[in-house]
Amino acid sequence: MKKLTDIFADKERTFSFELFPAKTEKGYQNLLATIAELATLNPDYISCTYGAGGGSRERTFDIVQHIQDTYHLPGVAHLTCVCHTRDEIKAILHNMQERGICNVLALRGDPPRDNPDWQPGPDNFQYSCELCAFIRHHYGDFFAIGVAGFPEGHILCPDREQDARYLKIKIDSGADFVTSQLFFNNQDYFDYVERLRRLGVNARVIPGILPITNYDNLIRFCQNCGTTVPQEIHDIFRPVKDDPERSLEKGIDFAVRQCRDLLDHGAPGLHFYALNKLHPVDAILTAVRG
Ligand SMILES: Cc1cc2nc3c(=O)[nH]c(=O)nc-3n(C[C@H](O)[C@H](O)[C@H](O)COP(=O)(O)OP(=O)(O)OC[C@H]3O[C@@H](n4cnc5c(N)ncnc54)[C@H](O)[C@@H]3O)c2cc1C
Repeated sequence: MKKLTDIFADKERTFSFELFPAKTEKGYQNLLATIAELATLNPDYISCTYGAGGGSRERTFDIVQHIQDTYHLPGVAHLTCVCHTRDEIKAILHNMQERGICNVLALRGDPPRDNPDWQPGPDNFQYSCELCAFIRHHYGDFFAIGVAGFPEGHILCPDREQDARYLKIKIDSGADFVTSQLFFNNQDYFDYVERLRRLGVNARVIPGILPITNYDNLIRFCQNCGTTVPQEIHDIFRPVKDDPERSLEKGIDFAVRQCRDLLDHGAPGLHFYALNKLHPVDAILTAVRG
């Protein structure tokens, strides 16, 4: 299967989706049906997140392998190092290699809800840069490695300059590209890219786009991940928050405007947080691709 680095060498822009592993068998079957529909939109790749713990973790690789084997589309497996020992990570990477998965998003992750006080010990990785270095050291160039980037700074590191310096360490440790956290003010993304370029980071920074479909969920989610919700979003979505259809309509409209502005100003593509749904990402992608 193609590595994302090869795709980036050929294409100025990529369009991609992110899914998460369903927890139940019914959810898993629904997800497979959604993947079939998403594949018809010809994305450049589809990524799948890695659970904070429990049984859904292996599912990530099942889903990525399914995407690759059934639709011949590159898949990206997210991998978090929280709650894993180095030996476990090595075994997981070996398993990925055997399955033909050669694109990985290397993350630290967060301690799971049932073990919120988990702290890394000598057998664990503390930061994602250590995971990047580990992958490169043990697997050479087999994997294209992506990392998470935070245009507004990570919630635990709101000093944007410092957070950008940490991002540079991830790249210097072997990462090839960056997928950004969601954001709604495009200037935050452009400033972030410029900050990284000033530090000598030339890797692609692919903007992560969350289509807004539910105002209350959005507020809760952004509080948890530290993304700023601009006043414009409150003004647009609060008045229609109890009307799902109008929320969806306005969510599509907002995302299309956000995506067009990003592409018009040089963003190297779009990565959609599809949340395991075809709609609205199909409508948004169709509109922005023209
Ligand atoms: C695109 C994307 C995909 C994601 N996918 C998943 C997923 O699949 N599963 C999941 O559980 N979570 C996922 N997350 C969430 C992510 O795991 C959390 O945001 C987590 O808190 C940070 O992960 P990280 O890889 O950025 O960690 P790190 O890069 O390790 O950073 C963690 C914190 O430490 C700081 N830091 C980084 N490097 C250093 C250093 N060298 N020295 C000191 N401090 C440092 C950072 O500023 C930050 O505050 C995703 C996030 C994004 C943006």
